[in-house]
Amino acid sequence: MRALIVEKAEDGTTSAAVQDIAEDRLPEGDVTVRVEHSTVNYKDGLCIGPGGGLVRSYPHVPGIDFAGTVETTDDDRYAPGDKVVLTGWRVGEARWGGYAEKARVKADWLVPLPEGLTTRQAMAVGTAGFTSMLAVQALEDQGLKDGPVLVTGAAGGVGSVAVALLAAMGREVAAVTGRPEQEDYLRSLGATQIVARGDLAETVKRPLESETWGGCVDAVGGAMLARVLGQMQYGASVAAVGLAGGANLPATVIPFLLRGVNLLGIDSVMQPYENRVRAWARLAELLPMDKLEAMVVPATLEDLPRLGADILQGQVRGRVVVDI
Ligand code: NDP
Repeated sequence: MRALIVEKAEDGTTSAAVQDIAEDRLPEGDVTVRVEHSTVNYKDGLCIGPGGGLVRSYPHVPGIDFAGTVETTDDDRYAPGDKVVLTGWRVGEARWGGYAEKARVKADWLVPLPEGLTTRQAMAVGTAGFTSMLAVQALEDQGLKDGPVLVTGAAGGVGSVAVALLAAMGREVAAVTGRPEQEDYLRSLGATQIVARGDLAETVKRPLESETWGGCVDAVGGAMLARVLGQMQYGASVAAVGLAGGANLPATVIPFLLRGVNLLGIDSVMQPYENRVRAWARLAELLPMDKLEAMVVPATLEDLPRLGADILQGQVRGRVVVDI
């Protein structure tokens, strides 16, 4: 079978290349899936490169999500021919993932392909879109306030799906981007306002600014998140998803104390089965398929070393779907 293999040399450098490997090298697991599509997420960029502490051992097959067809199974929840989706559980990081013609995993980590989605559409959503849905659900659970919802890192994978989802829910969406040339794209997904990244780039000078945003899906973290906290409406929530702009949070406690702002952490990796099924069903129901298609950048296994580097530089737009 063909697979993207990342190897580590004795001097510690890593290299990634497509190779033909024997199927018996697949890890142990209950279900073998013929992978049809995978995607490129920020973590994949890390794992195609030196790993960033995520990869447990080499040689490694990255690919933190995939969709495909069950080929063999020891678990009676699935039968050969069933369509399935996988996100999370450290697949593609600590374990071999979706950048191969076949993957072997635990049955517990899979969910049935949601009704109404093809395997390609499911991967156009992928981990980034699934996480956006979790973020939107977390904001809903806390009660979204009136007024625009801010999405940071908007032209990226998490951001693009969040913009389209919130717009489909009838919300006014303000999209933050560092790429002004993506304005038409973001408006086509449903953004009603474009905020230049530079406008939110300065570090916090005043801990509270005008109450502006009724909620926020934040894929960027760092100084931008700190700044946004001071612009939230009273009692509004920020769903913190990512750290594309840095892991340090140079914020004060004032927005929490004087405005009752909620900071909600979103983790897609260890979500229980019921939550995953619920989020996928809502994605299939809510997300307009024409907008999803507009986000897709098609790719092959051979494109992955380049795309892995691009996503770490914030240069990928929307969702890369890998045809395996
Ligand atoms: P992408 O690279 O597709 O998108 C990130 C976007 O952030 C970029 O497109 C860019 O948007 C913006 N950005 C990049 N660098 C900077 C910077 N230095 N300062 C400000 N903005 C920047 O990645 P994903 O959307 O796939 O993932 C986003 C984050 O979410 C990552 O940190 C990822 O690890 C995390 N994540 C977390 C998950 C979880 O379970 N919590 C699951 C999935 C992802 P623009 O050009 O529009 O400004």
